[in-house]
Amino acid sequence: MLNVKKKRKILIADPSTPLIDAILTSKEGQEYEIATAKTGPAVLTKVQEFEPELLILDLMMPHLHGIEVMKTIKTNSRYKSMGIIVTSYHVMVQNYHAAIEEGADYFLVKPFEIEQLFELIDEYFRGGLKPAPFTLKSGHEIAQTHCYHPIPSTLTSYLRFWGTRGSNPVAGAEYVRYGGNTSCLEVRHGSDLLIIDAGTGIRQLGDVIELEDDQTIHLFLSHTHWDHITGFPFFSPLYKKNCNIVIWSPVGFEKSTKELFTSMMAYAYFPVRLDEMKANVTFKELRDDRPVSIGNIIVDCHFTNHPGPTVGFKIKTPDRTVGYITDNEVLLGYHGHPNKIHLKHPLIEPYLGLIEFLKDCDMIVHEAQYFPEEYYRKTGWGHSSISNATVLLKYTGCKEWLVTHHDPNHKDIDLQVKLQLHNDIIKECNLNINVDIAYDGLMLPL
Ligand SMILES: [Zn+2]
Ligand SMILES: [Zn+2]
Repeated sequence: MLNVKKKRKILIADPSTPLIDAILTSKEGQEYEIATAKTGPAVLTKVQEFEPELLILDLMMPHLHGIEVMKTIKTNSRYKSMGIIVTSYHVMVQNYHAAIEEGADYFLVKPFEIEQLFELIDEYFRGGLKPAPFTLKSGHEIAQTHCYHPIPSTLTSYLRFWGTRGSNPVAGAEYVRYGGNTSCLEVRHGSDLLIIDAGTGIRQLGDVIELEDDQTIHLFLSHTHWDHITGFPFFSPLYKKNCNIVIWSPVGFEKSTKELFTSMMAYAYFPVRLDEMKANVTFKELRDDRPVSIGNIIVDCHFTNHPGPTVGFKIKTPDRTVGYITDNEVLLGYHGHPNKIHLKHPLIEPYLGLIEFLKDCDMIVHEAQYFPEEYYRKTGWGHSSISNATVLLKYTGCKEWLVTHHDPNHKDIDLQVKLQLHNDIIKECNLNINVDIAYDGLMLPL
């Protein structure tokens, strides 16, 4: 009579069909009697029906975690002698310890070769299988060539908002999200640098600016209201030799910008006078010789509706065009629904030039300082209501709107409410505009 050796019984518990198929069809698999289960509850049923000598158990079994499966099995003394090899992709020390403490004979890290699994199975049946100590390759051991190092798009060409507040700087716990510095924007394109407005945000910018010898910084001023110039004396490149600062501004009604800056830095207001600065400061007026080219950046400007001569800017690089308008009262005195303003409406007529100017922008940074209910009381102050600014954006055709020049009365919570209202108005007007609120420190690729 032929002596047929009884095959050892193994239960493979794993949610992966390809893995189960590979085990069942392997040469080594033919040496064993194998049953399979693909969910946690199915493992428990199969253990009772099949009574395996060894269980190969994936830790992440559907519906019942592998550790729970082990705990349940252990409550029945009948299965005490059953061996368990835990397999898992989730190689964490906590999982390893939980499996070993629950009585696993081995913790096999996935993915594994079928031969490797059967070597462990053979070793188990020879009585020599012991858990290997936990190992995980740390970040230092991983070859650098395998690591993905994405290149930030803002590395060499970007806009950075150093001040997004209008009218007056603010500070305190209620302003930490959006910040409290007044208007200042850094524009970088490769080695080309320009700055728009010298609000309080320019102080911090001055401290991080890396200057080459004889570098020229172009500072463009939208106008000379306090919130756009008050950081100027604290701009540290002013105190460096071999630095040229060119200040571009619209022609003043009463005094030139140079005269205004000279009086602003009289000893009565500030301990260092403009003519005592180490940097070479020159003033230029934004007249007919626009647009101004700074390396690969082209800057153009357009008058806006604000007390005194005030301009908004358009910044063009080979890749992108951005409008930047901090102070502009759109639809002066209008409090109605934005949808009622059609292009032939007399109230939009004064803004058609600016709309045309902004038409080629990929993104427009434009103020919307007041909630509609605030605008009743602040008509003629030189700033827009959210709804009126929406009309301007609508007719430019631009789909990206970033709001800046936040009211000093608007705390973080108010600006969040305001953002929702922006979105509500855009939706109600059936427009396709992405709107967001700028904050101090915001950096965008240019
Ligand atoms: Zn302002
Ligand atoms: Zn102003």
